[in-house]
Amino acid sequence: MPDNTVTILDSVSQFLDRQHGLYIDGQSQPSQAEQRLPVHNPADGQQISTTADASAEDVARAVTSAHRAFTAGVWAQRLPAERERILLRYADLVEQHAEQLAQLETLEQGKSIMISRDFEVGCTLNWMRYTAGLATKITGQTLDVSIPMPPGARYQVYTRKEPIGVVAGIVPWNFPLMIGIWKVMPALAAGCSIVIKPSETTPLTLLRMAELASEAGIPPGVFNVVTGRGAVCGKALTEHPLVAKVSFTGSTPVGKGIARAAADRLTRVTLELGGKNPAIVLQDADITQVVEGLMMGSFLNQGQVCAASSRIYIEAPIYDNVVAGFEQAVKSLSVGPGMDTRAQITPLVSRSHRDRVAAFLDDAKAKHAELIAGANGPVGDGFYIPPTLVINPAANLNLTREEVFGPVVNLIRVADGEEALRLANDSEYGLTASLWTRSLQAAMAYTPRIQAGTVWVNTHTLIDANMPFGGFKQSGSGRDFGPDWLDAYTESKSVCIRY
Ligand code: NAD
Repeated sequence: MPDNTVTILDSVSQFLDRQHGLYIDGQSQPSQAEQRLPVHNPADGQQISTTADASAEDVARAVTSAHRAFTAGVWAQRLPAERERILLRYADLVEQHAEQLAQLETLEQGKSIMISRDFEVGCTLNWMRYTAGLATKITGQTLDVSIPMPPGARYQVYTRKEPIGVVAGIVPWNFPLMIGIWKVMPALAAGCSIVIKPSETTPLTLLRMAELASEAGIPPGVFNVVTGRGAVCGKALTEHPLVAKVSFTGSTPVGKGIARAAADRLTRVTLELGGKNPAIVLQDADITQVVEGLMMGSFLNQGQVCAASSRIYIEAPIYDNVVAGFEQAVKSLSVGPGMDTRAQITPLVSRSHRDRVAAFLDDAKAKHAELIAGANGPVGDGFYIPPTLVINPAANLNLTREEVFGPVVNLIRVADGEEALRLANDSEYGLTASLWTRSLQAAMAYTPRIQAGTVWVNTHTLIDANMPFGGFKQSGSGRDFGPDWLDAYTESKSVCIRY
C-alpha cells in the first residue's frame, strides 16, 4: 500500500515551535497574560503549538495601534491604486507560501490537505484578487436637489464612500484562513484598519497571514491579530469604543450577544451566523447528480460548513432510490487523517466539538432513530465521527431542528414539493438552500418561495467572490462578497455645495 501521507515542511515545523505572540504594530508582541492556549492536531489529539491568551489590555493595545494607523492616514489616504497594488502583491506572497499555509491549516483544523490546498488557500487567492480590485472601484453618486432657499441659490450634491475606521473581525474555526481573509480584504480595500481574532481552536494561519501582509507592504498597525478566548479577548475587542464596525462569523447565540453589545454604541455590525440548510429534491431530478452534489454539500469539511445541506427532503416516488445512492456513497467514503491525501472524511476540529456531535447521535440512538453510518476513523485519540445518514428523523430528536455542524445529514420522505417547501421554510435559520429538478418551470416557481440568502439549483455549497452571501432570519444580517461588498466597510457622506 503506497504511503499517501504528506511530508511536513521544515518551515511548518519551525512555525509550530515558535513562541507566538500577538501581531500588533507590524510585529509579534508578547501578551501581558502568562497563560498560553494549546493548539491540538485533531488527527491524534496531540498538542502541536501554543498561542497567547490575550487579555483586555492586550486587545486595547491592538485597537489603539489600529486607530493610530487609521487616523494618521498611513493606509486610508494612500491612492486607491496603491492599495490595490499592495493587496495584489499580498495575494502573490500567499500563493508563494500556499503549501506552508495549507499544511498549517490541516494540522490545526483537521481538514483534508486536498481541501486546504484547493479550497482554503486556492479559493482564498481568488477572493484576495477580486477584493483588491474593489479598492479602485469605490464610487458615490451625483444628485440634483431642489432646495428652495434662499431665493436664487443653487446646490449640487454628491456622495462619498469613506472608510469606516477600525474594524474588529471575529472568525470561527471551520475555515480560519479563508473566513479571516473575507474580513481583512474588504476592510483593507476600503482603507480601514483591522484587528482580527481567530478562534482559540485554530489561531495559527491568521498569525502567518499577518506576517505576509507586512512583507507585502501593508503598514504597521493596519492589520493586527489578537489570539485568545471569545469571552475575554473577543468580548473586549467587539466592545472597544474605538471599534467602528464588527464583522462576525460564528454561531447564532454568540452573534446575538455581539449585536446586543454593539447596540449600545450603534457600532456597525455584519453577522454571518449558523444554518440548518434544506435541499428539496423533486421527482424529476437526476438522481446521480443529486447524490454526488449533496454528498459534497453535506460532507465537505465533515459537514463543518455553515452552508452545508443538512436536511434533504425527497419526493416519495424517488425516495428509495436516492437513499440507496446515499447509502452506497457514505459506506464507500475513506476516513483518515487530513494529511493523508486519500482520506475523504477527516477528524472534527476538536475534542469538545466531536463530543457535541456525538451527543446528537447518542440522543438519536436513544430515541430509536434509524441511522446508516460509514466507516469509523482510525483507532487512537483523533476526533473522528463516522459520516452518518439519519432516515426520516422524528420531531423529538435534537438533530432534527438544531445545527449539528458535523458529518450528519437527515434524509426525509415527503409527499410532494409543497410539503418539502413548507418543511424547508419551517426553521429559525435561512442561510442557504438547494432545489434539485430538471424542470425550468419548477426552478423558477420555487426559488422565490424559499427563505434563504442563497438558493442553488442542481448544486449546493458553491460560492464565488462575485456572488453575495449572507442569511435570512437568524442566519445573520448583511451580505459578504459581490460588487457592493465594501459598502459595509464605508460610511456614505453627502456633500452639499451651494454655488
Ligand atoms: P462561535 O460562535 O462559538 O465562535 C466564533 C468566534 O467568536 C470565535 O473566534 C470565538 O472565540 C468568538 N467568541 C465567542 N464568544 C464571544 C464573545 N462573547 N464575544 C466575542 N467573540 C466571541 O462559533 P464556532 O463554533 O467557532 O463556529 C461554528 C459556527 O459558525 C456555526 O454556527 C456555523 O454555522 C457558523 N458559521 C457561519 C458562517 C456564515 O458565513 N454564515 C461561516 C462559518 C461558520
